Amino acid sequence: MQIIREIKPLKQILSDKKRQGLSIGFVPTMGYLHEGHLSLVRESKKNNDITVVSIFVNPTQFGPNEDLDRYPRDFERDEKLLRNEGVDVIFYPDVKEMYPDNYMTYVNVERITDRLCGIKRPGHFRGVATIVCKLFNIVKPDRAYFGLKDYQQVLVIKRMVEDLNMDLEIVPMPIVRESDGLAMSSRNVYLSEDERRSALSLSRSFLLVDELIKRGERDVKKIIKEVSDFILSHPYTQIDYVEIMDPDTLDYKDTLHGRFLLALAVFVNKTRLIDNKIFEV
Ligand code: AMP
Repeated sequence: MQIIREIKPLKQILSDKKRQGLSIGFVPTMGYLHEGHLSLVRESKKNNDITVVSIFVNPTQFGPNEDLDRYPRDFERDEKLLRNEGVDVIFYPDVKEMYPDNYMTYVNVERITDRLCGIKRPGHFRGVATIVCKLFNIVKPDRAYFGLKDYQQVLVIKRMVEDLNMDLEIVPMPIVRESDGLAMSSRNVYLSEDERRSALSLSRSFLLVDELIKRGERDVKKIIKEVSDFILSHPYTQIDYVEIMDPDTLDYKDTLHGRFLLALAVFVNKTRLIDNKIFEV
């Protein structure tokens, strides 16, 4: 496994591999890896000759009052995990390598970013699209793997790839959960034992939605209210959003029919957690 910190040698190595006819799978991450990340790595290993994982805590996708400085980092541990999975290359650049002093260019995906995390975290998707575009230009993967835990992010990246005529396949992967249902996240380390118990209210609210649907409820406002009340009945919780939308377009809905996405963002004290699920009526 090679660990590469600079763009130029990485491009060199990967263009040699391409010339040999080898396919490249790519998994972009911010590190502090868990089974969710590793599920993407395993899928990439299965379907590509070479797997590249990037570890970069991207400053441009964090707002001024967010957790950039305290975001968990442990490169040694990540390196061991990736070595175990048989990853070929880790790209681990520093901030100056990705954003030198004279940096000026950003990628803005419109409309689909004017809701959910796009409104709650202004500039977030501009930062995500920019770094992912840069990483795609550096790695030139055949396939790139993204988790549906960040549902809106997958739609934004797919849109960017289509709109900018990029030549790669985006592979969305299912959410990996702890045995009690909590969606895995690097940010879960912030949670105290009590907070973690409250954090379960996100995934448990899915059972409530199943129940409401079974009882024949189709009014989106009522379901959102029930889910919000349920989450807020747990200590330390504060709702950032609870929304029900069309899973393909992220258009808002009034009544339920067919498939719908329930998207949640909840603060448990200072920790912001997201989760989502697609239902069908
Ligand atoms: P991050 O390091 O949080 O930027 O995540 C890197 C990639 O891993 C993104 O595509 C995430 O959607 C994905 N990911 C994070 N958590 C999970 C999870 N619990 N299940 C599946 N994929 C995940």
